Amino acid sequence: MLEIQDLTKRYGKNLAVDHVSFTVPNGKVGILLGPNGAGKSTIIKSIAGLLRFEGGVGIQGISNRELEAKKQFGYVPEIPAMFDALTVREHLEYIHRAYGVSVSEQEIMDLLTRFELEDKQDKLGNELSKGMMQKVSICCALLIRPQVLMLDEPMVGLDPRAIKELKQVILEQREQGVTILISTHMLEMVKELWDVMFVMEKGKIIGQYTKEEAKDQDIEDLFFDITG
Ligand code: ATP
Repeated sequence: MLEIQDLTKRYGKNLAVDHVSFTVPNGKVGILLGPNGAGKSTIIKSIAGLLRFEGGVGIQGISNRELEAKKQFGYVPEIPAMFDALTVREHLEYIHRAYGVSVSEQEIMDLLTRFELEDKQDKLGNELSKGMMQKVSICCALLIRPQVLMLDEPMVGLDPRAIKELKQVILEQREQGVTILISTHMLEMVKELWDVMFVMEKGKIIGQYTKEEAKDQDIEDLFFDITG
């Protein structure tokens, strides 16, 4: 279970996230749905340890010390970034060594093939398109076998085949018990994926739903009200 308690983040005077609390049960997919500027990325970056914030983050079964090390988190940022001088393959090798996860050559190859990067493995970071970087970023996050996988607007910039593959990967990760948090401003991108949905507006959660209690249409109507 990923538990966020009273998370608040200010950028100067701008209250970007306003006392937000939510829980994603183990092995479920939680969605942060909201328009541009709602605070989704700020929440994910805070959980990933990239921002200082007020409030708390907890994961059932993980000690505070492990949490501090952030080694249980796979994080796919909204804007992918790569080292200019490392090849695609070197990125994957660097990540799994840095996280101390043992990964076979075959596993690396399988991931690259899955995201149609096998013929790009010797390309340098600065030779890749944004979509390719996004795919490498997804591969890096999966490679460390995280307990919690967080993806910030992961479908933006991907071609339809990669989106299909990513959705499949998310469902497989959920099947394996990984807890997943995805931010999006497009409900249609996550329709077949979500278990719990948090609709955000101006730094607050204004609606929380589980798949059992809400239809996509209810959420679409609410979202249309705040963005329409
Ligand atoms: P998007 O869908 O556009 O990515 P978002 O829901 O992820 O939006 P955030 O990026 O978290 O929203 O932004 C929330 C608020 O915080 C916005 O008002 C934004 O202008 C502000 N903000 C975000 N990053 C910074 C920053 N580094 N410095 C100052 N203000 C920021």
